[in-house]
Order: sequence, then C-alpha cells, then structure tokens
Amino acid sequence: MWDKLFAEAETWTTLTKLDLSSSGLSGPIPLEIGKLVNLTELDLSGNNLSGPIPPEIGKLTNLKRLYLHKNQLSGTIPPKIGKLANLKRLRLGGNQLSGSLPLDLMSLAQLNELRFEQSPGAVNALCAPQDGAFQAWLQSLNNVRGPNCDPSAAVEEAELPTQSLPTVGDIAAALEAWADPGFAESYDNVGLHVGDAGRSVQRGLIALDLTPDVVTEAVRCRASIVITHHPLLFHPLRSITADDLTGSMALHLAEAGIALYSAHTNLDAVAGGVSFSLAARLGIAAPRFLRPNPDGISGLGAIGSLAEALTLRDFLHQVAEQLQAPALRFAGHDAQLVRTVAVCGGAGASLTAQALAAGAEVFVTSDISYHRFFEVMRPDGTYAMSLVDAGHYETEQHTEALLCSALQKRFPAAQWVRTSKRTSPIRVFAA
Ligand SMILES: [Zn+2]
Repeated sequence: MWDKLFAEAETWTTLTKLDLSSSGLSGPIPLEIGKLVNLTELDLSGNNLSGPIPPEIGKLTNLKRLYLHKNQLSGTIPPKIGKLANLKRLRLGGNQLSGSLPLDLMSLAQLNELRFEQSPGAVNALCAPQDGAFQAWLQSLNNVRGPNCDPSAAVEEAELPTQSLPTVGDIAAALEAWADPGFAESYDNVGLHVGDAGRSVQRGLIALDLTPDVVTEAVRCRASIVITHHPLLFHPLRSITADDLTGSMALHLAEAGIALYSAHTNLDAVAGGVSFSLAARLGIAAPRFLRPNPDGISGLGAIGSLAEALTLRDFLHQVAEQLQAPALRFAGHDAQLVRTVAVCGGAGASLTAQALAAGAEVFVTSDISYHRFFEVMRPDGTYAMSLVDAGHYETEQHTEALLCSALQKRFPAAQWVRTSKRTSPIRVFAA
C-alpha cells in the first residue's frame, strides 16, 4: 500500500486527500509520509498502525484534518504537530499514546476539534498539561474530548488556595466592565439571577443556556457559579417551586449554593462580543458593527470580508463545519461568489435590510422566518444577497469559549469549565 504511494514523485505533490481509514494497515507510519506536502486531509484511522507518530508529519503544513484515531500508536506526541498551522481537526483517541500533549499545540490557531481519549487500559495514557495557558486554550476549542476534560473529573483535583479566589461580585463586576448592562436591550434581564455576591468562586461552569443537565453538571463538578448567555429569569416570578422548569432550576441552584449570572444582549453589543467572535470563527478579518450605536462603542451584528471570495456553496461548507451545524436553511445561488459577509449571533433576522444596505453578499444569522427570505429576492427572482439561517444555538455556542477564555485570563486562580452538554433542545430529523 505505502510502496505504491511513494513510488512516483508526482503523486507526492498532487495528492491532496488521503483516506486509508479501516484499510487493514499495520506496522509503523512511514517517514516518507512527510513528502505528501499538499495533503489537506489524512485519514489513517481504524487500522492497526503501531509505533510512534513520526515527527515528519509536521511537514504536512496544508493539513486541515489529521485522523490517527483507533490504531495501536504509542510514544509521545511529536511537538512538530504544532507546525500544522492550518489544522482544524485532530483525532488521536483510541491509541496507546503517552505523556503530555505538547504545548506547541497552542500555536494551532485554526484548531477546532481535538480528541485524545485513550483506549481502555492504555498504559501511561496521554494527558493535557496542567499549564494554565494550555488549559485555557483547551477550553477555547469547540470540541475537545480526552482524559481530564470531563468537568466532573476536576472534583478530584487539589483545592485551590482561597485568598486569591474571586467572589461572585468580583466576577459580575469584571463581566460588566466588559459588557456594560446599559448596552442590553430594554426587554432583557442581565446580571446576577441567583446567589450571594460575597461568596468566593473556585470553579465556574459556562453554558449558553441553563438546562437541568447543566444544573446537574454544576453540582457534580462543584461549581460555585454558572454563567449563561441566555437569562433564566425574564418575567417576574410569583413562586419558586419544583413544579415548573424555571423555578425548579433556580431552586436547585439556590439549594446547592450555586450562583447564576447572565450576560446576554449586553455581550452581543460589544466589540469582541458574540457577533465579532462569530465573525472571526467564519474567517472574517477586522469586523465592524453591522448596526453601530450612536455611542460609537457598541452595536449589533458584524460585517467584514473573507480573505478571498468563495462560492456560496464553499462558504456554506465552511459555516457548517465551523459552527458544527447539522443543517443550514438558506436562500441564494450555489455558484454566487461571496466575500463581504455580515453575521449576527442568535436571532438577527431584523438586521437583514441593514446587511443588504451595507453591501453584504451573504448574511448569516438564525431564527429567520419564511417570509423574511423573500426580502432578499429581486424582481427577476435572483437574490440581491444570500441569507443563511445556521441555527440559534449554532451561531452562539462559541460564546461559551469566549466567556471561558476571558474569565480564565481575568481570574486565573479559579477554574473555568465549559459545559460538556449541548444545551439546545432542538434536534434535526432528515428524511
Ligand atoms: Zn441567543
């Protein structure tokens, strides 16, 4: 199999994708693998490959996906993997690898998914270094699976010193210095919903929404605060009992002594907030507000340009991959080129006219109603702008990583954990 692959020098440079998954391969990964310099995808999963991962793999700098999971690979991870600047997905799980993940992985700016869960009974299993910066970086990824990444595992760790721990009030103040509650929409209810501002926080759990699963997770990992984007309490309550969803979750948190804080439309409205971070995830450099507020420092949505024009089809692939969206609803023509992109995390359909007026070629948001799609149709039936509904959860779930890394930086003595739960109640049924 390998000999044929490396026999002709021409193959080395023309090959862009190599899928040898479940092909019955055994023995070591050959060093010649480093010759396939134009590979963007390498899938060697589900074989019987053994021995170490050769450092030569670091030469494949165009790789976007590297799948080595479910083999018998052993030894430590070569730091040269940190050279794969375009890598988006790295799967190493189900091997016999050992040692710490190299700190060099932090230079993989495009990385979205990292899996390193080990085979049951693996000797000296692989672990993530306890380095603070590395842990924060790990938290910032969209999809991480590996030992010690389950928040409930954190319970066993040594207790942190109490003096340097922030209080619930310190955390609220820091979040409000970043995302002023004055920027929140009038209907919104941001801030501390449950809890004692004077209590100290050793561990915080971050989730887009509060769900019963998130409450259970917070109790299990002994979090002192849960920070959500979507507020739990919107309407005045007449009672807090276990009989309805909202009351029961508030009650459980209060009983467990866990605070709840929400940063919602105020976090949408700041530069570097929800929409700017969505823009960055979709490859939009230097975004600006789609609808700036008169104060000049806040606004809604974001608009900017991709590094190069893409067909709508290719752009949709990128959106689905980056946002891990199971499906996209859209209006537009597949072959149309898009470069100027407007986005709004969450329900941003009311900004459609603004996006069109600002010269966007495509607008990505969520909760777009049927009739709204006609607003981008010209009299001749073509589209003045493509309109994409990527899902509310999908366009906002990165907010968990955003809050996590900001809080880890601001309060390094506490431990900030992103929920392992998908909090959206919506599933997709494809016929
Ligand atoms: Zn939302």
